[in-house]
Amino acid sequence: MKNNLTKNIFIGFTIGVIFGIFLSLYSLPLNINERLISFISFGGEVFLKTIKMLVVPIVFFSLINGVANLKDISSLGRIGIKSISLYMTTTFFAITLSLFFANLIKPGEGLDSNFQAETIKISEPPSFLEIILDIIPSNPFKALVEGHMLQVIFFSILIGSALSILKNASVLKKFFFDFNDVVMKILSFVMIIAPFGIFCLISKTFATQGISSIYELIKYFILVIFVLIVHVLIVYLPIIKFYGKISSKKFFTGIKEALLFSFSTSSSSATIPITLECLKKNFSIKENVSSFTVPLGATINMDGTAIMQGVATVFIANLYGIDLLLTDYLSIILTATLASVGTAGVPGVGIIMLGMVLTQVGLPLEGIAIVMGVDRFLDMLRTSVNISGDAMVSIVVNKNEKK
Ligand code: ASP
Repeated sequence: MKNNLTKNIFIGFTIGVIFGIFLSLYSLPLNINERLISFISFGGEVFLKTIKMLVVPIVFFSLINGVANLKDISSLGRIGIKSISLYMTTTFFAITLSLFFANLIKPGEGLDSNFQAETIKISEPPSFLEIILDIIPSNPFKALVEGHMLQVIFFSILIGSALSILKNASVLKKFFFDFNDVVMKILSFVMIIAPFGIFCLISKTFATQGISSIYELIKYFILVIFVLIVHVLIVYLPIIKFYGKISSKKFFTGIKEALLFSFSTSSSSATIPITLECLKKNFSIKENVSSFTVPLGATINMDGTAIMQGVATVFIANLYGIDLLLTDYLSIILTATLASVGTAGVPGVGIIMLGMVLTQVGLPLEGIAIVMGVDRFLDMLRTSVNISGDAMVSIVVNKNEKK
């Protein structure tokens, strides 16, 4: 991404935060606040929709292209095993860390549980076997239309593999190659409005959420942020330094736009195009690696979400005065890791998947309503952590493949 654009995105972001807080604190005459908010909502929505429009085509074409151009198709299995194991292992660490710190700090203990629980509808989270079965699309075109990411990944890999084996499909290969270029070009058009889009998204969040709701749940809120930071510091950065041979500064500078974008949108999935672009431009990651690891990570790798779920579970247990046993902790670790796989990379799904973890250890689902009040901001932060994890794994797998 051009330096100027990055600078402008950052400026858009900063002005957005200031403007949003201003709107939430001061009420201007003549309904100006409402008008401004509906204008920035519209601007944000336009930007978000244009980026979302590109997610499925980018994943579809770049993955087919990446797999079809593999010199050795067995490397796909290797890339798959390496990335999935890394994704799972870091999630395991994430949830363990969050349980450790939640037990140390004990958020929610001694608090009165007279919270105003909002009534929310919690849909039944899918089981592990359902998640596995769901990877196979009964109709691949429907999967594309509905943007069912794991199914799109599965189908694209099959097409790519068939293309790489077939000797006389060069025209079709070229078609996918060119189409991939076309979609990436469209992305560069859309990025022209990114500074304005990010300004709108972020100012709307700050203008409509306010910061007052955070006070009630301050200990929980700060603890989640603390563990998110610790996880990045003691898991991601050492791995990226030792296995990726990249300094922390270079890593963060290289994924800056993806971080800002994920923070503003709270969606790993919508950030896929930006993450791919950052990895290609700043770390020269090969397309056959990133086109696989990034969409997969945005779908199954949610370390930030697992951290929130760990802290939230202990917090809710403390709030209701329920003691968790060692077996409960083990089952939280297992369920939160699976919940992370099942969480879609869109805003607010992590908090719904928390239902899966709470049910597993017999905690009241109403607990979700309590933490929901502050979830908007935490979602922004944990999505940025989720994205950093996807980028970290892509860099490490790429490095390892080069060997
Ligand atoms: N918003 C998160 C993501 O897209 C998922 C979640 O935790 O709600 O990565």
